[in-house]
Amino acid sequence: MENCIFCKIIKGEIPSKKVLENNKVIAFYDISPKAPVHVLIVPKKHINSLMDVKKKDKDLMGELLTTATGIAQNLGLNSGGYKLVVNNGRGAGQLVFHLHFHLLGGWKKDATGFAV
Ligand code: AMP
Repeated sequence: MENCIFCKIIKGEIPSKKVLENNKVIAFYDISPKAPVHVLIVPKKHINSLMDVKKKDKDLMGELLTTATGIAQNLGLNSGGYKLVVNNGRGAGQLVFHLHFHLLGGWKKDATGFAV
């Protein structure tokens, strides 16, 4: 889609620090990280938001989820835990209207295991 920053990243018109790419999904580091590890998992198909997901997209949604959990494991986030977040709509803080999951993790822990 024209003027979509994530479509431009997918087309290679804007650079990104890629974590993974296949024919359906791309994942790259967030340019303005909100956690020590902050990766965006993005379907190559342009879908504006969760509100625009159709039943025919269910396999793609499964692909996004398993891609996210796979990346979390590969980046060593499982032991410390992580968040998988979707901001859905302007009121929820969505700024880029191309569906994406935020994978956030990698916090330092104190002796009791809590994030510091
Ligand atoms: P959201 O507010 O859920 O739409 O999140 C959009 C995210 O995209 C924000 O965390 C931004 O920091 C991130 N972002 C915007 N432009 C880029 C870019 N060129 N490369 C990587 N991440 C970006």
